[in-house]
Parts: sequence; structure tokens; C-alpha cells
Amino acid sequence: MGRRIVVGNWKMNQSHQEALDLASKVQSACENISEVHVILAPPFVSLIPIRDCLYGSNISLAAQNMFYQESGAYTGEISPLMLKEVCDYVILGHSERRSIFRECNETINKKVIAALKHGIRPILCVGESSRDRQLGDSITAVKLQIEESLQGLSHVGELMVAYEPVWAIGTGESASPEVIDTISSECIRSTLVSLLGDSGKAIPILYGGSVTSLNVAEFLDCDQVDGVLVGGASLDYKQFIDIVNRSQAPA
Ligand code: PEP
Repeated sequence: MGRRIVVGNWKMNQSHQEALDLASKVQSACENISEVHVILAPPFVSLIPIRDCLYGSNISLAAQNMFYQESGAYTGEISPLMLKEVCDYVILGHSERRSIFRECNETINKKVIAALKHGIRPILCVGESSRDRQLGDSITAVKLQIEESLQGLSHVGELMVAYEPVWAIGTGESASPEVIDTISSECIRSTLVSLLGDSGKAIPILYGGSVTSLNVAEFLDCDQVDGVLVGGASLDYKQFIDIVNRSQAPA
């Protein structure tokens, strides 16, 4: 396993100044942390100033979304050409994009292809809904999301997959290590290997869903988990740094 990965997804939060302040505090606190790869995903409008503020630091930047077309009449959208100069990563297929903005696997597949074409590393989010869970269909649902989102790709560059059960996002109810172990090994890893061969073994898998400084260690203890994707708790500077610190040593 390489460095642990901690992604902070700020979603649609923070004024411009608050975002800059938070990024610069995180940067100072992470200055001497080399064992954890911290990736921040602020809102689009704060990406450029935060990129400048983080220049030369060990923190990477991610966008929270991206359209797949390069340019044109797509009001309100941001293209890979615009993002590639600003950030190295992009979160794709987040459950809020899927549920609120009706993004389907086919659209996410186009976005993954476009990101890779332009050298932006996708953080592909997958996860079952509470209905899938109730019906015992979690593995089928997550497998289908991965297969359809990576359709036609035999080389995925530095893709990461974030397992984010929809019922665990922002609810305070996280998945148990047993569930994470089962889904990450029997579903995510095995699907990646069957689609991509040996290169599927090296793709980092993150867990996301109500991660806090108090529970992060149990997720990092899961065999296939290389890091965490943190939503709500990433807005709380002290808690986020605590999560980063706790991600340093093997759990
Ligand atoms: C997320 O936004 O991807 C997320 C996991 O949110 P939270 O940590 O708040 O559950």
C-alpha cells in the first residue's frame, strides 16, 4: 500500500474567503505530513485562488464535478480543458450528482473518459442506495456502476474509486468495517481486476460516508481501503486535521 489518501469534499459550502482561510490552515497543518496524500475539493470559484495558495505544498486539488465536452454551448458547465490547468483530480459520479442532477452511469463514463484524456485523475464514486441495501442488492448495484462507468476503458491512468454507500452520506450512519470489507474486496476490487487485469489491483479504494476523526481508524483498518473521502467533517478544520493525523500510522 502507498500513502494513505484523505480527500476533503467541501461541496457547496464556504464563502470565497472562508475557503481560502480553510485551505491555508490545512496547508500549514500538513506541512510536515508526508505519509498522507491530502486532496481538497473546494467549490469551482475557489479553485484558482486555492491553487495559488497551495503552490509548492504537498496538497492536491480536486474539482467536484466536470462536464465531458471540451467547449461549446453548455451554459453553467466546466470543461476538462478549463480544469486541467487548475487541478489534478476530479470527483465524478458523486451520489448527489446522481440523485439531484440525474447523472447516469453513461454520462459518468463520458466524464471519466474526458478526464483521463486530459490528464485529470478521476475519483469515481460508487455506492448502493438504501433500497439496494434493503433488497440485498448492494454488490450488484455497485458492480454495475463500476462496469458502466468504466465501459470501453482498458487503461484508467491514476483512477481512484470511492465506495460511498448513499445511505451513509451525511447521515451520521457509516458502513461497518464488515460491509466495507465485503464490498471493497468481493465487488470493487474483483470488478476492477476483471475489467482491467493486473492494473485493477493497484487502483486505490477510498471509503466515504460519515467519516469523522473518531471512526476513521476502523475504515483504514479494512484490507482494501487506501484512504477516505470526507464530506461534512472536512469543513471543520480541527477535525479534518485530526483525520489526516490519524491516517498517518497504520491503524
Ligand atoms: C461525501 O460528500 O462524499 C461524504 C462522504 O459526505 P459525509 O462525509 O458528510 O458523509
